[in-house]
Amino acid sequence: MKTLLGGKGANLAEMNRIGLSVPAGFTVTTETCAAFHENGGELPAGCWDEMLEGLAFVEKCMGKKLGDASDPLLLSVRSGAAVSMPGMMDTVLNLGLNDDVAEGLAAKAGEKFAYDSYRRFLDMYGDVVMGIEHHLFEHQIDSLKKEVGVAQDNELTAEHLRELVKRYKKVYEAEGKMFPQEPLEQMRLAANAVFDSWNSDRAKKYMAINQITGLKGTAVNIQAMVFGNMGETSGTGVCFTRNPSTGENLLYGEYLVNAQGEDVVAGIRTPEDILTMKTALPQAYEDLVRNTQLLEKHYKDMQDIEFTVQEGKLYMLQTRSGKRTGAGAVKIAVDLVEDGMIDRQRAVQIVEPTHVDQLLHPQFKDESAYAADVIGVGLPASPGAAVGQVVFDTETAEELNAQGKKCILVRVETSPEDVGGMNAAEGILTARGGMTSHAAVVARGWGKTCVSGCSELVVDEENRWLSLGGVKLHEGDWVSLNGTTGEVIRGQVELAPPAISGDLDKFMTWVDEFRRLKVLANADTPEDAKTARDNGAEGIGLVRTEHMFFGTGERIMAVRRMIMAADTATREAALTDLLPYQREDFEGIFRAMDGCPVTIRLLDPPLHEFLPDGDLDEIVAMLSADTGADEHEVVERIEKLAEINPMLGFRGCRLAITYPEIGRMQVRAILEAAVAVQAEGKVVIPDIMVPLVGTLEELRDQTAMIRETAKAVFEEKGAEVAYRIGTMIEIPRAALMSDQIATEAEFFSFGTNDLTQMTFGYSRDDVSKFLPTYLERGILKHDPFQVLDQAGVGQLIETSVQRGRATRPELKVGICGEHGGDPSSVDFFHRKDLDYVSCSPFRVPIARLAAAQAAL
Ligand code: PEP
Ligand code: MG
Repeated sequence: MKTLLGGKGANLAEMNRIGLSVPAGFTVTTETCAAFHENGGELPAGCWDEMLEGLAFVEKCMGKKLGDASDPLLLSVRSGAAVSMPGMMDTVLNLGLNDDVAEGLAAKAGEKFAYDSYRRFLDMYGDVVMGIEHHLFEHQIDSLKKEVGVAQDNELTAEHLRELVKRYKKVYEAEGKMFPQEPLEQMRLAANAVFDSWNSDRAKKYMAINQITGLKGTAVNIQAMVFGNMGETSGTGVCFTRNPSTGENLLYGEYLVNAQGEDVVAGIRTPEDILTMKTALPQAYEDLVRNTQLLEKHYKDMQDIEFTVQEGKLYMLQTRSGKRTGAGAVKIAVDLVEDGMIDRQRAVQIVEPTHVDQLLHPQFKDESAYAADVIGVGLPASPGAAVGQVVFDTETAEELNAQGKKCILVRVETSPEDVGGMNAAEGILTARGGMTSHAAVVARGWGKTCVSGCSELVVDEENRWLSLGGVKLHEGDWVSLNGTTGEVIRGQVELAPPAISGDLDKFMTWVDEFRRLKVLANADTPEDAKTARDNGAEGIGLVRTEHMFFGTGERIMAVRRMIMAADTATREAALTDLLPYQREDFEGIFRAMDGCPVTIRLLDPPLHEFLPDGDLDEIVAMLSADTGADEHEVVERIEKLAEINPMLGFRGCRLAITYPEIGRMQVRAILEAAVAVQAEGKVVIPDIMVPLVGTLEELRDQTAMIRETAKAVFEEKGAEVAYRIGTMIEIPRAALMSDQIATEAEFFSFGTNDLTQMTFGYSRDDVSKFLPTYLERGILKHDPFQVLDQAGVGQLIETSVQRGRATRPELKVGICGEHGGDPSSVDFFHRKDLDYVSCSPFRVPIARLAAAQAAL
C-alpha cells in the first residue's frame, strides 16, 4: 500500500503484521497531503478528528497519554512518500514535551534524559515547524560545550541540559517565535510542516534529478517514541542487510549507544560499526540479526533498516529496499538468484539502469602511483574514482558543472539542502558523518564517489579553503577521491575505463532473455564499433560519416577543398581524395560488426561546420594555402556558405541533392568496402540511410542516386552485396507523411534530436539559454533532448510507425537520437513497437536493461 501510506507507513504496517516489534502508531495518507495542498495548506474536513482517534489508539496501546506530566506519551512525526527520498522531507521527534511534561518525565525517567529529549525537541521543532535555522541551536550547544569543557553532546550533565533548554527558548524569542506548550497544537503544526516539506525546494530538486513524477504527496507517520537515549543499555542505529557498496552478504551499518536516530543519520557523532553491537547490546543484536534475515526473505531484497534499542529491547522503526551502488546492485541480484530467493526476472527488475551505468564509470588507472599525494583518509562511503576542482557550496558546484567543469563538493557535513551540489559534483568529501549519513546514502544511490567522516579535515567554508594532512587547498584547486578506500589525494590522479566484473556479464545474459527491442549503437570508427560490440550491441544504428572527416590533417584538407570548390570538376577531384579514407573506415566497421547490420548515414551537417574557427583573416589565409584558391575567392565562398539558421539550412539530404557527386562518393565508399569485406568471408549487412528527409521526392532522388551508384560499383567489382535503403525521420513533415515515405524506404530511424528540435522549435544549439529557467519553474519537467517528450514528439513517432507500417508491413523501425540510451524513453519505444534503439556504445548495457524492464 505504498501509494497510499508511503513507503515508510506501508512497511511499518507490514512489519507489525508479520510480528516484529514496532512502536504503536498511525499513518495519515498521501492523499491527505494532496488534499491539504488543494485546501490551501489546511487539513481537509474530518481529518483532525480521525487523527485524534489514531492518537487515542496509540495512547491505549502504550498506556500513556500525550501531555500527561505524570506518565507522558511522546510521539515521533515522520514523513514518507511512496518513493524513498532519504533526508528530503521533515521529521520531528519527542513531540509532546513542554515545561510541565519535561518536569514530570524527569521525575520518572531521570533528569538528564528528560532535558536531553526536551532540548532535542526544541531544536527539531524550531527548525522543521517554526522555520528557525538549526545552526542557531547548534551554536548554543557548541558554546555551552566549550564553556563547560566537554567534547561530546552526551557528556553534558542534567544541569547543563536544563541550561541549554533555557538558551534554546531564548533562540525562539530572538527569532520572534512562540513555542507552543500545548501538545495537541504541537502535533497539528508538525503534521502540517511535514505536508509543507513536500513542496520544499530540496524535495522538488531531488524529484527532478531522480525523475520522480506522479506521486500524490507524503504520508505522515505518527508513532509512540521509543528512546535510544535512556542510558548505556539503549541506543539507535541504521543497518543494511548486505553491504550496499560491494553487495557482500554481511550485515553492514552503524549505531550509537545512548543516542537518538538523528545523531546517526545527520552525521553529528561518528558512530560505531554495527558488528560491535554484538558485545555492547547482545540481546538486541541477536534480535536484530534475526529480524534482518526475516525482512530480507519477506521483501526479497536487501533492506535498509532503522532501529532503536530502549533499555535492552529492540524496536524496528523502518525498513525499505536499500539504496546501493551499481556493483552492489548487480552482486546482490546475482546472489539472491543463486541462493534461490528470487528468480531471474525479479533480478532484472531490482537492478536499475543507472546501476549499470555506474559500473561503466572510470576507476583510477594505478592506485599505487599516487601514494605520496594522499593527504588524508575518510570513510569509503561510496566507491569509485572522482577528480575535480574543490568547491565549498552547492551554487558553485552547479555553476562549474554548467560550464562543463568537474568539481568535488567539500563540506563539514552535508545537509539535504546540498542535493543540487552533490548531483553537480563528481564526488563529495565531508569532515563529519558516517557510512549511513545522508551524504553517503544519496551519493551511493547516484553512483557518486563519496568520502565522508574525514575527521582530520578542516573546512573554512566562508574563506573557501580546506586543510588536510598539512596541505591547504583553495577553491579551484584539484583534488581526487577514492571512494573505495576513502583516500583523499591532492592533484589530478589519472583515470582509466572501468573493469567489468563476472557478475555483470552473468546478469546481462539474464537481461537479454527478457527483452524484445534490439539494442544497436551509434559508432563512427572501427574502435567505437568494437566497444559497442563488447558492450553487447547487435549492430550499428548510426554511423555519422562526417565524423570520419575530422581524423588526420589530410582528411580535413580534402574536405575543405571539396567545400571551397567553385565547380563540379574541382569538387569531384577533392572527393576522389576522400574516397579511400571513407572506404578504409567502413571496412574496419564492417569487420568489427561481422554478421550485424551497419546503418550508415550520408553526409548531414551544414558544410561550414568543417571550416576552421577563429580570426577571419587567419582562416582565409589558411584556406587559401590549403586549397590553392586565392583569398578573394575564399572570402566570397565563405560568405556564400554563411547561414542565418544553419540547423534549418543547407544540410541533410539537401547537400547530396544539390551536389550529387558527394552522395555518389559516399555510396561508392560504402559498397566498395562492403564488397571487399564480404570477399574476406565476413557477413556484411549495409543499411544506407538518407538524413533529414521531409518529402517523398527528396527520398526518391536519393534512392535513385544510391541504386545507380550501386549498380556501377557491383558491375566494376563483379560482385554484389545485399543492401537496404532507409531514411531518418527527423522532420515533423516526414513523420506525418510516413505512408508515402515508406513506399521508398525499407527502414525508418527516428532522429529524435532533430525531431525534438523541430517539434518544439527549440534550437539544439541554443536551448541552454532558457532551459534552466524552464526546468526550475516547472515549465518543462525534463530536458526534452535527454528524456523523450512522449506526449508531443511521441505522438509523431507513433503516427509515423503506424502509417509507415500500413504501407510496408515489414518496415524496420528504430531510433538513433540521444533518447536511445534513456531508460524512460526506451520504455516508450518498446511500447510503440519499434524494432530497435541505437545509442552511444557506453550506454548499450543501460539500454539493454531498460529494454528488458520495459518488456517485464
Ligand atoms: C538526430 O537528429 O536524432 C540524429 C541522430 O542525428 P544528429 O544528431 O546527427 O542530427
Ligand atoms: Mg539529425
